[in-house]
Amino acid sequence: LSFSSCNLPEKLQQNLEAAGYEVPTPVQMQAIPAALTGKNLLVSADTGSGKTASFLVPVVSFCTRLRHANSSKQKPAAMVLAPTRELCVQIEEQAKLLGKGMPFKTALVVGGDAMAGQIYRIQQGVELIVGTPGRLIDLLAKHDIELDEVSIFVLDEVDCMLQRGFRDQVMQIFQALYQPQVLMYSATISPEVEKMASSMAKDLLYVSV
Ligand code: AMP
Repeated sequence: LSFSSCNLPEKLQQNLEAAGYEVPTPVQMQAIPAALTGKNLLVSADTGSGKTASFLVPVVSFCTRLRHANSSKQKPAAMVLAPTRELCVQIEEQAKLLGKGMPFKTALVVGGDAMAGQIYRIQQGVELIVGTPGRLIDLLAKHDIELDEVSIFVLDEVDCMLQRGFRDQVMQIFQALYQPQVLMYSATISPEVEKMASSMAKDLLYVSV
């Protein structure tokens, strides 16, 4: 499998080449085609496997196709949750790289930055939110963020989020969404991770590399 056989938007294909992503990594080969057809995934993958692009390629593809059809101010169509601010920053950077030159705006929703700026950015219209559970809960509680149009919900490093005690916050955020496609990533698939995954999505496809 190659990226060019995935029928991606042309600009995304170009951005992958510009980033030096010529051959998909094993996790990308398995997760990208499945995610593009709308499947719910539970992926066991480590850092360094190319897991980030394995969810961002489907996210960018979906968001930019949607944007083509809908020219009004966009409510978030995809959301990535990750356990730490640093990881969120890296994910957003890669998203910007892959979405460059396309109608694809991102917002970072993490602690440590002023909330007002994050809210303002989201209200201007973004396709993707990348955030930590704590800050997202704060914004939801203030009714400053509308998540009902989130169609792809990505959870990165689920095992780490559970270790940090984010379980209830993650579930609360999930409750604010309307039947999204779920893409879950974890280094280890513990019974707790599986339990969370199956409570969010039926017909889960397991991917391990
Ligand atoms: P990750 O596992 O998502 O943290 O990615 C590890 C590193 O691999 C990152 O620096 C990516 O930029 C890079 N990478 C991801 N996919 C590919 C690919 N298909 N070809 C080359 N490098 C890649």
